[in-house]
Amino acid sequence: MNNKTSTSQSLATSRLPILPGATIGMVGGGQLGRMFAMAAAKMGYRVGVFCGSSDEPAAHVASFTVCGPLEDHSAIEDFARRCDVITLEFENIPAETIAVCSRHAPTYPDASVLATAQDRLIEKSTLRDAGIPVTPFAAVHNAEEAVHAAGTLGWPIIVKTQRSGYDGKGQHRLADATAAQHVDWQGGGDWVAEAMIGFDREVSVVVARTADGRTETFPVFENGHRNHVLDLTTIPAAITEATEIKARQIAIKVTECLDVVGLLCVEMFVSGEEILVNEVAPRPHNSGHVTMEACATSQFEQHVRAICGLPLGDTRMITPAAAMMNLLGDLWGPQDESPNWQALLDHAGVALHLYGKHAARPGRKMGHITSVGDSISELVTKLEQSRSAAQFS
Ligand code: ADP
Ligand code: MG
Repeated sequence: MNNKTSTSQSLATSRLPILPGATIGMVGGGQLGRMFAMAAAKMGYRVGVFCGSSDEPAAHVASFTVCGPLEDHSAIEDFARRCDVITLEFENIPAETIAVCSRHAPTYPDASVLATAQDRLIEKSTLRDAGIPVTPFAAVHNAEEAVHAAGTLGWPIIVKTQRSGYDGKGQHRLADATAAQHVDWQGGGDWVAEAMIGFDREVSVVVARTADGRTETFPVFENGHRNHVLDLTTIPAAITEATEIKARQIAIKVTECLDVVGLLCVEMFVSGEEILVNEVAPRPHNSGHVTMEACATSQFEQHVRAICGLPLGDTRMITPAAAMMNLLGDLWGPQDESPNWQALLDHAGVALHLYGKHAARPGRKMGHITSVGDSISELVTKLEQSRSAAQFS
């Protein structure tokens, strides 16, 4: 063990638990940081946010904000000095930024977790080597290698950039060798080719883990995507009890394998009883928003509890069924005109969450709606109707 590791580890453990009244730092100003800050404030913590501008979603609800680029180490230092513990809401944060934070306060997750989650090839290799079932994959750099990989994986394949992809960006579904010629291989850096999985359902599991190794999973969420972007999450997932248990066990194994402290979301494909891990995100996840209304503890409160070393909350559902639907920028008018919120809220039992973003570009996540009740199909219909009623026209 080198000095730096032992120093930051003793710093981390000596300061736990971090109790209400303390200051939590959040690196990142998006909607995940915003909902985290609201949950932390509810529990009596102060939240400082480090982000690019004071008009970002999390900055609106923070106790204080320090603005600057992630590479501005002196700004990061000013921020970290004021925090008792630090966490983050997206994984593409430079290791150096995390290192500066860790010098002043325990910072979760650790830079090693980010290094793994930032790179699809490292992520998949690490999990496969730990005996976790992952989508069959191969590293590729050009059309020739993609065709070669398809020899093993079978057509069609999906190629994804190894780094910085999200919401389906940087991905291509290739039907055959001709399609492989049309990818801008140079533009994407390094690539991973994956077998195209004909799954029955997509699910995700959010796990919380504390520095002393306690874990707690949320019930499995079932996810529907539109244009590769999450559209709908329903809970409970329509899977057998055995698959539910297996999915939650796999998620815990991944969390332990990566040594995550805080939250980890594990995205999975389910085919029959078989589960394959697609990807992981070491932070709150869009699919976990449903927990705010559906579970005894929300994913955001659980994140606070995990990084502060508190007892983890009860994750059980407090309703027979729940559904969450995203509100994308497409609902807004061409000149940023607001959707019809009155018409949306006229649907009884729909909870509206908006992130306070101004520019509503198509595809941009602007908010979400949730509803709880007895029947998933009725809830989905209700959410669809209320979302359509809001469409600007
Ligand atoms: P992102 O980082 O953009 O979320 P994902 O790898 O999760 O990237 O891909 C986005 C979506 O594309 C997935 O949720 C799934 O619906 C689909 N997808 C990705 N990889 C595969 C695959 N190997 N087989 C089938 N569908 C896939
Ligand atoms: Mg994904």
